[in-house]
Amino acid sequence: MSNLYLKENPTLKDIQEYVYKLKIERGFNTTDKVYESLLLAEEVGELIKAVRKNLKDAFVDITANPKAEDVKEEIADVLIFLLSIANMHNIDVEEAFRQKEEKNKTRVWKKN
Ligand SMILES: [Mg+2]
Repeated sequence: MSNLYLKENPTLKDIQEYVYKLKIERGFNTTDKVYESLLLAEEVGELIKAVRKNLKDAFVDITANPKAEDVKEEIADVLIFLLSIANMHNIDVEEAFRQKEEKNKTRVWKKN
């Protein structure tokens, strides 16, 4: 029985805290950054595979394409490992996002 609970309309920080708690509850890694990075890479691979399998239906609405559920699940897996790595570095992801976006806004983006 799990004691995990994610409130309605969570902030990104709420989700980060939830990810930390799920790692503790399930006895998963909370300290080895390299191992966690390998697991993130694995999950990114699973996401790309799911996207590839859905390519022919790529422009179909998710509600009309049950196979896109695979993509949805892998996106959740990637988010878990991404937030876990942030947690291991005491990084507030919202703050990191805001700071990087402010930096990005000052960049000149070249069109390919
Ligand atoms: Mg996965």
